[in-house]
Amino acid sequence: HKKLFSGFKRTSDRLGENLTGIFTKSALDDATLDQIEEALIISDLGPGMAARVRERLADGRYDKGIDEAGVKALVAEEIEKVLAPVARPLEVEAFPRPQVILVIGVNGSGKTTTIAKLAHLFLEQDYGVMLAAGDTFRAAAIGQLKVWAERIGVPIVSGPEGGDAAGIVYEAVKQATETGIDVLIVDTAGRLQNKRELMDELAKIRRVLGRLNPASPHDVVLVLDATTGQNALSQIEVFKEVAGVTGLVMTKLDGTARGGVLVAAAEKYGLPIHAIGVGETIDDLRPFEAAELAHAIAG
Ligand code: GDP
Repeated sequence: HKKLFSGFKRTSDRLGENLTGIFTKSALDDATLDQIEEALIISDLGPGMAARVRERLADGRYDKGIDEAGVKALVAEEIEKVLAPVARPLEVEAFPRPQVILVIGVNGSGKTTTIAKLAHLFLEQDYGVMLAAGDTFRAAAIGQLKVWAERIGVPIVSGPEGGDAAGIVYEAVKQATETGIDVLIVDTAGRLQNKRELMDELAKIRRVLGRLNPASPHDVVLVLDATTGQNALSQIEVFKEVAGVTGLVMTKLDGTARGGVLVAAAEKYGLPIHAIGVGETIDDLRPFEAAELAHAIAG
């Protein structure tokens, strides 16, 4: 709870700074409303949110004006409305087991770390977890995932650098089924610079999974780095196209001033947001409650 609020402090401070100096003690005129709308947009909260808050302020008959705290309270209400329907933790519910979670995202987004954090979360819920090192393009990615697997004590299926990712995934599902694993979490390559190849590779993995179980992959989780701000939104666009996306995890929300992008993403795409990353350690993946997060962002 405390970490959530301290994580979002820079985002919240930035919103405050952007609103500073806008307010007067007279009725809100169009110019002031424009300024407030603009402040919300440059705080990464998205144009929809900004327009709705503007509309509420315009309709609100604030004859004596409204101060920063008043606007923030309205913003918090609107954020809560946007986040409440999408705040949805990943549930392990697939039968037959294993539930297969494909994790996608660009390199550096925090994909590997998020996989380890998710594995840890499921272990804490007493599920059997296995990892598959499906990012065969980077030797470092395979190595790093192995280190995490050993650290948290879960089995991992991996192959050599440059190996066939779909083959590894096939082998992992086979082993997971044989050993009664509940959740198989699959790392994938994140080379957006070669969209065609990435698309082919993800499609091949999906084909292999689908042949083993038509409901698989059960989840396709896109990992997004909040510090990239509006860039995160274009990544949703691309990955929806290349891979199909069933839900999001946003990382690095600790310490960034761009946390508002979580709200913009929720509003624009309506995809479930399973958890947020608020630090580098294994415990730093959090489900969130819409009201609490709204107050962490808008004070
Ligand atoms: P990948 O290339 O997408 O697999 O990214 P990694 O998982 O290797 O993460 C890249 C860097 O981001 C590493 O230094 C991680 O420790 C860091 N990282 C990942 N998630 C978070 C987070 O939620 N907060 C912070 N502060 N750092 C994170």
